[in-house]
Amino acid sequence: MKILIISEHQDNCLNDSIFNILGGVAPLSAKIDVVVVGYECLGVCRELAGLDGINQVLQFDGAEYANQPDQLIAKLVSSIAQNYTHIFCAASSFGKALIPQIAAHLDVAAITGVSAIRSADEFIRPIYAGRYLEHLKSHDPIKVVSLLVASMPSVKLHARHSSLGEAPIVTLTYVNVSDRKPMEFVCERRTKSRRMPLHTAQIIVSAGRGVNSKENFNALEILADKLDAAVGATRAAVDAGWLSSDKLIGQTAKIVAPEMYIALGISGATQHLAGMKGSRIIIAVNKDSSAPIFKIADYGLVGDLNEVLPRLNQML
Ligand code: FAD
Repeated sequence: MKILIISEHQDNCLNDSIFNILGGVAPLSAKIDVVVVGYECLGVCRELAGLDGINQVLQFDGAEYANQPDQLIAKLVSSIAQNYTHIFCAASSFGKALIPQIAAHLDVAAITGVSAIRSADEFIRPIYAGRYLEHLKSHDPIKVVSLLVASMPSVKLHARHSSLGEAPIVTLTYVNVSDRKPMEFVCERRTKSRRMPLHTAQIIVSAGRGVNSKENFNALEILADKLDAAVGATRAAVDAGWLSSDKLIGQTAKIVAPEMYIALGISGATQHLAGMKGSRIIIAVNKDSSAPIFKIADYGLVGDLNEVLPRLNQML
């Protein structure tokens, strides 16, 4: 058994999802190689090479990879895939674009959105907006899998500084022989935020339609500041324009599992719950005592946010 993990990075910084993927695949006790594709990304490769449990780091470095074009990455990962039994990637926007393409190149099934690895060929994943868990067995020679990193244990605290010394970094080249016109990079627009990203936050304060006013929204921001929390949102709050769509949590957006999820004015629609019900502690504030969010909340407060939020901020 030999595993290849596709690592994510941006601006020469390693994405923390690698630590959850390493935690998720650890029970397989397999040799793990990591592949990094990008431009001038040696810093990321070095960081990976120093982590515990990594056999070797494979690097594709070139100006043509600067914007990490998924079509090209899928091709070059497929070109080395025969050496592996498993290819893993985070089920992030990056992984969601990549995994089906790699699976198509290899003519195997794309096993997407896996929340637990039971064995080398058995995987568990939520289906129907998280209402059911599917136990899936794959007979493909290469398993091409995207992982819900929020459901995987992170090895971040233990993975630094390998006891066996640094893993080798191997530079590979790929010659694209396709006569098709390559995908063209147009532009990238990033949302600037002073808060930490949702997928790494320990605490998330999340806004629903019930937040309902600029004053409440400001109070929510103050609460998030006090708790050093990330801010998330339901579809209704995003549609109302209070938060950008990268803050959306749910079935069709980000799936999170922080230590604490504070749901403010959120009814608890299944599509939203699918993105946050793995949180360790769920606290809900809603003025309607029959709101479905209370069924999954560990702590619930029936109350009006207009009164609760200022008081909570005052007390904190
Ligand atoms: P509502 O359901 O309107 O709930 C507002 C709540 O606020 C109510 O419970 C109310 O009692 C409470 N409230 C109102 N005023 C106050 C107050 N002053 N104090 C305290 N409480 C108050 N949604 C997502 O979030 N993520 C998704 O990924 C997603 N994907 C979807 C995919 C599909 C295909 C579809 C059809 C829908 C999807 N939705 C998604 C939308 C989802 O179905 C719900 O409409 C949405 O989650 C509701 O958001 P909400 O809880 O903020 O609003």
